[in-house]
Amino acid sequence: MITCDKCKQPAVTFIRYSGAHLCSDHFIEFVDKRVKKEISKQCRLPKNAKLAVALSGGKDSTLALYMIKNIFGKHRDLELIAITVDEGIAGYRPNSIKAAKKTANELEVPHYITTFSDHLGFTLNTIEPHTHELTPCTYCGVFRRFLLNTTAKELNVTRLVMGHNLDDMVQSIIMNIFKGDPQKLVRLGPHRHIQPGLIPRLMPLRTIPEKESYLYTMLSGLTIYDGECPYAIYAQRGLFRDMLARAEDATPGTRHAILSFYDQTIEALTQHFTPAKLNKCDQCGEPTNKKKCKTCILKNELENKIKE
Ligand code: SF4
Repeated sequence: MITCDKCKQPAVTFIRYSGAHLCSDHFIEFVDKRVKKEISKQCRLPKNAKLAVALSGGKDSTLALYMIKNIFGKHRDLELIAITVDEGIAGYRPNSIKAAKKTANELEVPHYITTFSDHLGFTLNTIEPHTHELTPCTYCGVFRRFLLNTTAKELNVTRLVMGHNLDDMVQSIIMNIFKGDPQKLVRLGPHRHIQPGLIPRLMPLRTIPEKESYLYTMLSGLTIYDGECPYAIYAQRGLFRDMLARAEDATPGTRHAILSFYDQTIEALTQHFTPAKLNKCDQCGEPTNKKKCKTCILKNELENKIKE
């Protein structure tokens, strides 16, 4: 039997990049420590802060809510809520919303659900046949960010908590490097500079690998939905996910090294590629560096395509 390096209880995992065998308690302690360190590195919360966790019902956002509740639950001057975006993806989102509702209810966190159909006038399923040269994921990502930001503002939220794990972060960094897009690279959260009209994001799990996030939810008995979105085949991340998995396998610690490189260079990059000054979109009033925001541009294009 393989035992924990710290207490000789049976090990539940082997952390390749640190060479440690850990039992359930020490694994949880190992993750908790890094999440707390990451939160304090990312921001100092103002008094009477209101945090909203973007809760999909999947493992990462469920874990983010659970940990934020554990860390901040006893702070009387801090309010915690959860927001779920329902894009209208049959056979997928209803299941994850069910899991999200159960978790929010068990953790006694007020839960708000905002839908594409109420705010944009369509579901992802209805627009999918009209997405043509762009993928459903392009629309989904833009509209979801829009709804999270507008809903968070309506609810007077101070920070939006996202469940992005280490794998998500590193894939985004590499994707933007491959696309030659430093502007987007410097806009990846967590947000160091507050932009008017945009709720800054906190990413407590950004140093936690996906597998550890999954194991933590299992060991803590959390309810998650781990089904796959039917449009996932369109997501560009697949290529980068495979590439990084091979690199991590050959050299454990690669993902942490890429994230550390990003963290060490981001301030210098931000000074060179200063985020553009934001105006109000002349259609919806949301922040944008153009005349119209991306949501209104895509929404107008879709409405024209649907009419044709
Ligand atoms: Fe949206 Fe694409 Fe993710 Fe599905 S896979 S939830 S369509 S971004």
